[in-house]
Amino acid sequence: MTMSNTSTKRSTIRAGSCLCKRIKFKIHGDPFTFILCHCVNCKKASGTAFLSNLWFQEKNVIITEGSDLVKCYEDHDTASGNALRRHFCSNCGSTLFLRPSKEYPRSDIIMLHASTVDDPFHWQPRNEFHKDSKWSWVDVQINRKKLRSKL
Ligand SMILES: [Zn+2]
Ligand SMILES: [Zn+2]
Repeated sequence: MTMSNTSTKRSTIRAGSCLCKRIKFKIHGDPFTFILCHCVNCKKASGTAFLSNLWFQEKNVIITEGSDLVKCYEDHDTASGNALRRHFCSNCGSTLFLRPSKEYPRSDIIMLHASTVDDPFHWQPRNEFHKDSKWSWVDVQINRKKLRSKL
């Protein structure tokens, strides 16, 4: 399904972490999409204007340290109407990733916040969700054409 499967190159493994670095990840390969979310709840959770979500298959993001520190807030009052599980570090408070609720069809997806990725990456946002709630001072560059050739 992912376009990266057509590549014969071995996928890059990048490191990820929370602010206190007690939670660590290994991130395999490239996200299949990269979405900015401007909804009210993502503003609240992020502490700023939007969340930057790298969409991966669940199997490509492995928590290697500190999984006992990962706490989850079940967000049932979302703009889309689909419940989300918002995961964060219970030690430093960093927001880490979103998961669909278990009843949601694509429950194998993990929406990892770009802020957690420690190693360099070339990914750029492909789309924005909930632009109706986007703050007027946010100026985002979306370059779908460039990203399609990369992913
Ligand atoms: Zn932490
Ligand atoms: Zn959102």
